[in-house]
Amino acid sequence: MQLQTIHSNCCRSRSLIAVLALSVFAGCQTVRTTEGGLVGVDRPQRMSTLVSSEKFNRDAAGAYKKVLEDASKKGQLNVDGGQVERVRRIARRLVPSTAAFRGDATGWGWEINVITSNDVNAWCMPGGKIAVYTGLIAKLKPTDDELAAVMGHEIAHALREHSREQYSQVVAQGILIDILGAAAGASASAQNASQLFLELFVNRPHSRTDETEADRIGVELAARSGFDPRAAVTLWQKMGKLGGDKPPEWLSTHPSEQSRVRDLQVYSERVLPLYEAGRKR
Ligand SMILES: [Zn+2]
Repeated sequence: MQLQTIHSNCCRSRSLIAVLALSVFAGCQTVRTTEGGLVGVDRPQRMSTLVSSEKFNRDAAGAYKKVLEDASKKGQLNVDGGQVERVRRIARRLVPSTAAFRGDATGWGWEINVITSNDVNAWCMPGGKIAVYTGLIAKLKPTDDELAAVMGHEIAHALREHSREQYSQVVAQGILIDILGAAAGASASAQNASQLFLELFVNRPHSRTDETEADRIGVELAARSGFDPRAAVTLWQKMGKLGGDKPPEWLSTHPSEQSRVRDLQVYSERVLPLYEAGRKR
């Protein structure tokens, strides 16, 4: 947690900081957003009490609407009907499986749309607002199982509320920086603030921990939905071979390809019985 770094870098008065840190964390609570599942993701999370899940999901829905409107104006929304039907069909199978991790998710206002873009990308905003970019489909040529692996991973970020958790850290750190700024001088504060935002929003959109959690929950969602969870391994191998002048944003910030593939091999084998049991039914 980056508060530690800020403490060691610029704290001149430890007792003052201790009091301030306590006041910051008074606005946080420890929550478990999801059940552990067969993959056993059970890390407790610190969430700000200043922004509820409901408020965060409402804001995300507003942002999603804007993205769709912008894409629509440019003629980049759901251009290929067959593609749209394909991703929606996969999502319709994945969504009921979210119940294994959290009871409320099947009642979210799920939306799935395809945006025309060369970027190899897909995301799921808080509350279940999904976008798949045509660049991902064109460049990776994923099988349905592989596409389910991508979508399962992104859905897992939403189930774990990783964005709200990240935001909670910013809130906590922002308040601390404000207080430190008053105590230690504006220049130190400004420097720390810019480092912090660079780290959070540019260098590390999701932490490696978040990525690993999303990978593990993603393979279980896929397996429970009748998709071969081992497709996550081949997907990431394909992703690694993409190359090009600019690696996809999510590749540059995700765990190294080798360690990710090793982890996915272990966890896709663990959830394989769920997939096989579904096939026998
Ligand atoms: Zn991710």
